[in-house]
Amino acid sequence: MDTNIEDIHRSGLDDLKAARTSKEVQDLTVRYLGRKGILTQFLRNISQLPAEQRPAAGKRANELKGILEQEFKTAIKKFESADSDNLDRIDVSLPGRPLTTGYLHPITQVNDQICDIFSSLGFDIAEGPEVESDYYNFEALNFPKDHPARDMQDTFFVNDDVVLRTHTSPLQIRTMEKQQPPVRIICPGKVYRCDSDLTHTPMFHQVEGLLVDENISFGDLKGVLTTFVHQMFDDQTSLRFRPSFFPFTEPSAEVDILCVMCRGKGCRVCSRTGWLEILGSGMVHPALYENVGYDADRYTGFAFGMGVERIAMLKYGIDDIRKFFENDLRFLEQF
Ligand SMILES: [Zn+2]
Repeated sequence: MDTNIEDIHRSGLDDLKAARTSKEVQDLTVRYLGRKGILTQFLRNISQLPAEQRPAAGKRANELKGILEQEFKTAIKKFESADSDNLDRIDVSLPGRPLTTGYLHPITQVNDQICDIFSSLGFDIAEGPEVESDYYNFEALNFPKDHPARDMQDTFFVNDDVVLRTHTSPLQIRTMEKQQPPVRIICPGKVYRCDSDLTHTPMFHQVEGLLVDENISFGDLKGVLTTFVHQMFDDQTSLRFRPSFFPFTEPSAEVDILCVMCRGKGCRVCSRTGWLEILGSGMVHPALYENVGYDADRYTGFAFGMGVERIAMLKYGIDDIRKFFENDLRFLEQF
């Protein structure tokens, strides 16, 4: 009889040790302490023991009953609080995390917009190498060696004859070499100059354009650029053409637009002039036609070029070009 009660004690604690959930412990409670439970049966059978053994067996069985009740109760509590801890950690009523989507960089957006406008005017897109020969970057564009105009562009030289292109104009030559007029192209792409401050970065983006055909005049140049400015900014944006100099155009003109910030009244952005320079342009210099074998008496044309960062800064009122390249999402997400 004594070994029997000790067996119940041992197996009760072993079973409890093996239990993994509060449900398993509840089952154990029934198995040992329920109406037909092992310990309950034992207590019932005490009456069949010899009279002198009954008090000690009864005392020991009741003691064990108390121990198991306590142990089982504690175990159930422990499992239940662990379960509810897990439930607290997973709040099924929380809304899901939204998937973050990427954005097109503002420079890409403005570049695409410029290309779309000129595409709608019938211009094709031409692309070419960023590492360019001196011939295509300078010489064929009427910048002879030692010509002072070369100093206008702070050039990264790879060696004496190879440069990082300082403009996308080499594509004008490359295209004209391959194709007879009419030519109507724009050349978007990265260009490089050894310059860095609030309004310059060593790498920036340009879109240049070229149109060559019979009977092309400065009036056509003005018409195309006016259409472009009105679509890029708005119909109310006036333009003015200022005489300028580029080796590959004659005559040459720089184009200003009415300041988009102050509408011509004069502000910090336009240095109180009311105007903002946005691009360079001109009629193609006849020397270029000679270099590509076009008949300069028959064909005329115009070319223009603009910095994409510059257009984006004016369009969005940004005063520091370097912001485009710092990859700060707080800045980039605004576009
Ligand atoms: Zn202004």
